[in-house]
Amino acid sequence: MIDRFGRQITYVRVSVTDRCDFRCHYCMAEQMTFLPKADVLSLEELDRLCSVFVRLGVRKLRLTGGEPLVRRGIMTLVRSLGRHLATGALDELTLTTNGSQLARYAHELRDCGVRRINVSVDSLDALKFAGITRRGVLGQVMEGLAAAEDAGLKIKINTVALKGFNEDEFDHLIGWCGERGYDLTLIETMPMGDIDGYRTDQYLSLSDVRARLERRWTLADVSDDTGGPARYVRVAETGRRLGFITPMTHTFCESCNRVRLTCTGTLYMCLGQEDSVDLRAPLRGSEGDAAVIAAIAGAMDRKPRGHDFVVDRLGRPAVPRHMSVTGG
Ligand code: SAM
Ligand code: SF4
Repeated sequence: MIDRFGRQITYVRVSVTDRCDFRCHYCMAEQMTFLPKADVLSLEELDRLCSVFVRLGVRKLRLTGGEPLVRRGIMTLVRSLGRHLATGALDELTLTTNGSQLARYAHELRDCGVRRINVSVDSLDALKFAGITRRGVLGQVMEGLAAAEDAGLKIKINTVALKGFNEDEFDHLIGWCGERGYDLTLIETMPMGDIDGYRTDQYLSLSDVRARLERRWTLADVSDDTGGPARYVRVAETGRRLGFITPMTHTFCESCNRVRLTCTGTLYMCLGQEDSVDLRAPLRGSEGDAAVIAAIAGAMDRKPRGHDFVVDRLGRPAVPRHMSVTGG
């Protein structure tokens, strides 16, 4: 799959559900209306769509959400997609999770061919963690991480950098990740979806954070380009990688290699743009995959050159859908 700017699309992020057992302040409102079940693709349909992408040259699939591990029967999908790893058609099957169900699934994930996972942890303080997630229990996530380690999964922690909330914890997080052998990625908040708070209050520039961290840690640039908005350094004192995801302050779009599929079969060609292509109708419309393949080809022609994140003066997001729809 090559788009009109010559970028090769080899990475699909798949949101398998819009539901979640947490309600992180920056991601969801307290009261969320979730999608009716009939609109959501079945696990078989998700498998079929993902397999079409693999056939078209996608080498990496990341399952996300919402919370992927709260989708009923999710391991059936993971196991089924694992067959593409076994044949060599897929390089990597991974997922981004809040960790609440990891203790239950870590070993099975490994068994299905998953080797690395991203786990979101915004605070190492149990009270603050409960506050930001509205319903999360840090101890449960810690048990999940221990199970993942035990299963031999490589772990990367994702932390959303929030002004006035966790900016005093980054040193602690870097040290903690170093001790446990985890990589860490700090993420700038993105203006997506109506949430209850006032966004411009939460935004923290990661260039400022990096400058501050450099007073305490030795950060050496590493060149690995993931085709995404993350830039990595190695922390000399811990030997671990530290990533900065800065979609608001840097352009990374020239090397973008990814598209995003929602659990309703909508394909978003860019995280920061509204344009999308419906794959559910062609998928449900025929048993063969020709119509889906044609729709994906049309989507490639429409992938935009770059994103368009802006928060207006009233704090309204430029992208009205929630992050839990496309999964980040
Ligand atoms: N529930 C899983 C989790 O929390 O890891 C997967 C889905 S979640 C939408 C994926 C990532 O997006 C998480 O690391 C989360 O912290 C991040 N995220 C959610 N809303 C965001 C926002 N408005 N700006 C930046 N990152 C956000
Ligand atoms: Fe759920 Fe992840 Fe969004 Fe938090 S960031 S509400 S865990 S989907």
